[in-house]
Amino acid sequence: MLPQLITDPSVLGGLLTDASNLPGRADGLVRPRSAEDVADILRHCQSAGIPVLPTAGRTSTTGGATPDGGWLMSMAAFDAVGEIGHDRASAGAGVWLGAFQSAIEATGRFYPPDPTSRNECTLGASVACNASGARSFRYGATRRWVEGLRVVLPTGEILDVRRGDPIPADWPVPRWHEPAVKTAAGYAPPASLLDLFVGTEGTLGVITDVTVRLTDLPSDVIGLIAFFPDRASALAFVEQARDASRGDPRGALSPRCLEYFDRGCLGMAEGRTTVPDGAGAALFCEQEVEACGADAHLEAWLEALTAHGALVDDTILATDGPSRSRLLELRHAIPAGINERVVRNGMRKIGTDLAVPDAALPRMMDLYEASPVEHVLFGHIGDSHLHLNLLPSTPEEAQRAKDWYDQLAREAIALGGTVSAEHGIGKLKRDHLRWMVGEEVLASFRSLKRRLDPNGILGRGNVFEQGPL
Ligand SMILES: Cc1cc2nc3c(=O)[nH]c(=O)nc-3n(C[C@H](O)[C@H](O)[C@H](O)COP(=O)(O)OP(=O)(O)OC[C@H]3O[C@@H](n4cnc5c(N)ncnc54)[C@H](O)[C@@H]3O)c2cc1C
Repeated sequence: MLPQLITDPSVLGGLLTDASNLPGRADGLVRPRSAEDVADILRHCQSAGIPVLPTAGRTSTTGGATPDGGWLMSMAAFDAVGEIGHDRASAGAGVWLGAFQSAIEATGRFYPPDPTSRNECTLGASVACNASGARSFRYGATRRWVEGLRVVLPTGEILDVRRGDPIPADWPVPRWHEPAVKTAAGYAPPASLLDLFVGTEGTLGVITDVTVRLTDLPSDVIGLIAFFPDRASALAFVEQARDASRGDPRGALSPRCLEYFDRGCLGMAEGRTTVPDGAGAALFCEQEVEACGADAHLEAWLEALTAHGALVDDTILATDGPSRSRLLELRHAIPAGINERVVRNGMRKIGTDLAVPDAALPRMMDLYEASPVEHVLFGHIGDSHLHLNLLPSTPEEAQRAKDWYDQLAREAIALGGTVSAEHGIGKLKRDHLRWMVGEEVLASFRSLKRRLDPNGILGRGNVFEQGPL
C-alpha cells in the first residue's frame, strides 16, 4: 500500500528549494518508513510516469534537492543509528551525518568524511553525493568509506549491496577517464556495483541504509592558523607540507587538512577578530598527533613555517581551550563576514567548486584573483580545490560573474581538472559537465540511467537534462 500523499501547500512550500535557492515545484510529498514503502512508491511512479525526488537536509548547493514537478520523498523516517562496531557502523539514510559521527566517536572509533555541512546534512545524501571536506586531503571522499548499502532501484527492486559485488553483466556501464583530481562530476567509472550508487546524486536508486568502515580515532589533533605575507609564501609552504604528508603520512609534518584563506577573506574577518598587520593570506591546518609526539610535530611545523616566511609570532596554535576558541573565532568570522556582504549586496553569491592538478593551481589562482567582480577565495588547497566566491552587487555584475565562472570552468577542464570536486552537478552545472565529458560520455550515462529507470522518474533533471527517457 502506498503511504499517504501530502499535498498541503503549507507543507510543500517549505521543501521547494535547497541551498542553491533555485525555485522548484512539486505536486506532493510522501514519507516512506521502510525500504518496502520506497519500493511501492517507486513502482507506482514508474508505471504512472511520476517524477520522484528524495529530499533530505536540502543543503545541496546545485539544485540537486530542488524538485522539478512530481513527488518529493522525505527520507526523515530512516533515522535509526544501527550497530556501531570496531570496524563497521550502520545507520538509516536519514540520520544526520554529524550525529552519526559523534555516536561513533563516543565509542572511540572514527568515520572521517567531514563536509562543512555535516550537522545539517544526512548520511544517505552524503553517500549519494560522495561528499568530502577538509579532511579529505588525508582520508579521501565518502566513497572510500562505504562498505554496504540498501538501495531501492527506480523500478522498485530492493538491493543489498556489499563492497565488491559485481555489476550485472547486461547493465551498460560508463567507461571513461575521470580527471586525476578530487572530483564529484558525473558518473564515476565503477569498480563494482556499490560505486553506481555513490556520487550519482540519487539518480540511480534511493539509499535507505548505509554501512561504513571505521578507523582509529586520533589520540589528539593540533590545529593552527598561520598567516603569510602573500599567496606565494603560503603556496610554497603548502607544496612542502603536501609533499611531506604524501611521502610519510605519519611523519612529523603530515597535515590532515590544509585550508587557504586569501587577503579578501581576512578583510571580511577584520572587525570581528584581530588579523595581524602584514597578513596577505592564511592557512588553517590540522595535524593528528602521531607516535613521534606533539613536540616533534610542533618543531617540524615551526621549521617549515619559518622557512617559508610565515608570520610565525602571529600563528594561532590550538593546543588548549583559549587558543582553540581564538582559532574557531577566526574561522567563523570569515563566513559571517561573507554572508553579511551578500545580504548588504542583495544578490546571491556565485561559488565555484573547481579542482585542478597541483601543478596547475598557481595558474588557476591567477585567474581567480583576476575576477572582474568583488570576490574572496578560500578552500581545500591541499587538494588544489578552492572555492572562489563572487559577490556581485548589481544584476550586471551578477551576469559578469556568471560568465567569468563559465570561463573558469573551461580553463579548469583545459588544465586537466574537474568542474565539481565535491558539490556535484545537480541542475545548475549540467553545461559544465557536458563541456568536461563530451556528448559521447553523457550518452553513456543516459544509457545506464535508461536501463535502471526506464521512465526517467528518479532525480529528474539532476546530472544531465532528462525528460521522460
Ligand atoms: C554551508 C554548506 C556547506 C557545504 N559543505 C560541503 C562540503 O564541505 N563538502 C561537500 O561535499 N558538500 C558540501 N555541501 C553540499 C551538501 O551539504 C552535501 O552535498 C550533502 O551531502 C547533501 O546532504 P543533504 O542531506 O542536505 O541532501 P539534499 O540536499 O537534501 O539532497 C542532495 C541530493 O541527494 C539526493 N538524496 C538525498 N537523500 C538521498 C537518498 N537517501 N538516496 C538517494 N539520493 C538522495 C537528493 O535527491 C539530492 O539530489 C555544503 C552545503 C552547504 C549549504
